Amino acid sequence: MQELLERKKGLRRSILIVDDDYIAREMLGKMLNDQYEISYAENGVIALEIIRRDKLKLSLVILDLHMPEMDGYSLLKLLRSDNELRRIPVIVLTSEKGAEVESLKLGAADFIAKPFDMPEVICARVSHSIELAEDSVIIHETERDELTGLFHKEFFFQYGKRLDDLNNNMPMDAVVADINRFHVVNELYGRSYGNLVLKTIGESLHELVSEAGGLACRRDNDQFCIYLPHNDELKNKLPQYIDAIDKRINDSNISLRYGVYSDDGSVKCMEHRFDYARLACQKLRNSYVSSYDFYNDEQHSKELFSERLINDMDKALSERQFKVYYQPKYSIAGDKPKLSSAEALIRWFHPEFGMISPGQFISLFEENGLIQKLDRFVWNEAAAQIRLWKDRYGIGIPVSVNVSRVDMFNSHLAQILEKITKQNGLENTDLLLEITESAYTDDSDQIIEMVKKLRKCGFRIEMDDFGSGYSSLNMLTSLPIDALKLDMKFIKVICENTKSARLVAIMIDIARLLEVPVIAEGVETKEQMELLKKLGCDIIQGYYFSKPLPPEEFGKLAEKELKEINHAYN
Ligand code: C2E
Ligand code: MG
Ligand code: MG
Repeated sequence: MQELLERKKGLRRSILIVDDDYIAREMLGKMLNDQYEISYAENGVIALEIIRRDKLKLSLVILDLHMPEMDGYSLLKLLRSDNELRRIPVIVLTSEKGAEVESLKLGAADFIAKPFDMPEVICARVSHSIELAEDSVIIHETERDELTGLFHKEFFFQYGKRLDDLNNNMPMDAVVADINRFHVVNELYGRSYGNLVLKTIGESLHELVSEAGGLACRRDNDQFCIYLPHNDELKNKLPQYIDAIDKRINDSNISLRYGVYSDDGSVKCMEHRFDYARLACQKLRNSYVSSYDFYNDEQHSKELFSERLINDMDKALSERQFKVYYQPKYSIAGDKPKLSSAEALIRWFHPEFGMISPGQFISLFEENGLIQKLDRFVWNEAAAQIRLWKDRYGIGIPVSVNVSRVDMFNSHLAQILEKITKQNGLENTDLLLEITESAYTDDSDQIIEMVKKLRKCGFRIEMDDFGSGYSSLNMLTSLPIDALKLDMKFIKVICENTKSARLVAIMIDIARLLEVPVIAEGVETKEQMELLKKLGCDIIQGYYFSKPLPPEEFGKLAEKELKEINHAYN
């Protein structure tokens, strides 16, 4: 580039004249040698040698088409297809009209007709071709990243948009490729190795877009963007492309992640297509093998919804959009089912989305720890409610609250719960704690220690969703629990599927062994209830008796039904 700029400032340029006709060579040389350094070749083979040797300093080749050894057409084709020689412009010498078009098609910059007539016209054509070629090299170099040869971001988006306009917004696919842990590659193997990797990726992408007819750029340090005409087959072809790039890099420590927006007509603007491709790419962080994902509109809406819920949670708490509902549990040991307790279940009445069930936000809030705040709210509400029922109806209804696995890692959990019961004038036995079985398998030692501590304080523990986790039989026998709550999925099919019924029977046997009562939740029909009773289940919770109810309705139900509470735990 530097060399080129200096030459532009006034150094003499070099021209190679290739013609088997001695007179023609000499005549042209005479016309041009005042301004240019001239060298000569009498056929294509010799010319090619000179061009290869002087490739950095040659500014132009003037080429006769008909020559022995290698003719002008062949040499022209060869020069155009060679990455290093392509930048040297070629003016073709011809005496036939038809040859002009053909040589322009092959990539000649211009032509000079034989026999030569006006030297001024020839000199002007030569100087014009040199200038155009040099300008185009300067443009090429400023618009492209030196290391990879791909476009810089700004030019990429500019050309991409132009492509969209020219092609009447035909469908285009966008791909974002990112190198996993590239900074580590640089730190471990050095910058020059890192550069080599980038260069190799650049070459692969260059080939890909030359074939498929698109554009590619190096966006940030280690991120690449590829813009391609839409291809329905991209999903099938992508693994092959990725494989080819991996093979070329040839280093199993280096992997790329690819996010793809495959045009489905929903997005019209290039930048948005790349926003979506980048979103798909971001989700694949830090894989050890190259991987790819396609942007999915539905998934994206879900993510936006989740984001919204996270943002809205604090406000919702302070505006009391959360309500605690209560679902009754019935003891079925005697002739007539008796209300024995309730489970507190959260509901979110969102001003915009209406009622949101906990299935939509509990695991989301577990991921970011917000669940602790929410659970504390529910525990407080439930304790205040037990107090109120005690005062109003003179009945103590034990309420179970859900304790997330995240809460179990809070070393102050027992104190927090004790404070709540105390503030409401309750015994710790009034508040039952439901802990899902899968939490026990997360970090069993720590969870078991916490459960022991809670029981020591007088809280009773129900193992929720039993059968969904992977407790080992060995672990089960040492578990400090007060009740087993069977996972709903067994109950759902208990009447249709004899295997499920037998599994439930086994789980009830385990409860007998542990000497704790069994609760079945999700019981919706009389048949399910009767079968469970026959199998020896102690307590039933489910729509068969009642859906979760707002506290006022639950209070009325309790008042009507409850004259004496049957504690299954006593
Ligand atoms: P879970 O603790 O196993 O609660 C039982 C779920 O089963 C509740 O769903 C309840 O409404 C539903 N259910 C009860 N009987 C039936 C029935 O007969 N048929 C059917 N199809 N469903 C029935 P819900 O309220 O949507 O809660 C879902 C899960 O969300 C709960 O499962 C629990 O894991 C979690 N959750 C609810 N509230 C809280 C909370 O305050 N804190 C925490 N950490 N988790 C909560
Ligand atoms: Mg529960
Ligand atoms: Mg459950």
